[in-house]
Amino acid sequence: MKATKQGATHKPPMRIVSSPPPKHVYDGCREAFELSGAEIWCYGNTIHNPSGGHLSFPLIAHERTHRDQQGDDIDGWWELYLEDQDFRLQQEMEAHTVEYRVFCLRQKNSKLKLAYLENIGERLSSGTYGSIIPKEAAMHMVAKGRKKS
Ligand SMILES: [Zn+2]
Repeated sequence: MKATKQGATHKPPMRIVSSPPPKHVYDGCREAFELSGAEIWCYGNTIHNPSGGHLSFPLIAHERTHRDQQGDDIDGWWELYLEDQDFRLQQEMEAHTVEYRVFCLRQKNSKLKLAYLENIGERLSSGTYGSIIPKEAAMHMVAKGRKKS
């Protein structure tokens, strides 16, 4: 499984629906992670947002990154994502870095940028992703990754 490196500019906008993701994905996530109920899922070109929370531009950029990672093997990606912690960390690091980069493009206030980075660190280190990385390490990697490319 390889993450695609194509830009998202030529692709259609993602579809947003309020239904949960396909059952095998939803059940797999419920089994593997501690879900709060506020999660959103990417399944190909569709964002599943069952709780109806606000989807900010940075969050949509995050999900778009997963769409590009999934390419045309959506179920293969999800299978690996659920079973392989290193793969999951790598994919989420990429998606959170894109999210943070997009947030920072529109935000010049350094306190708000730091608050957003803290929030990302909390998310990445939480049970939502299976506690794959400590918060400070996640913040460091995302901040460093933002400045690249
Ligand atoms: Zn993600």
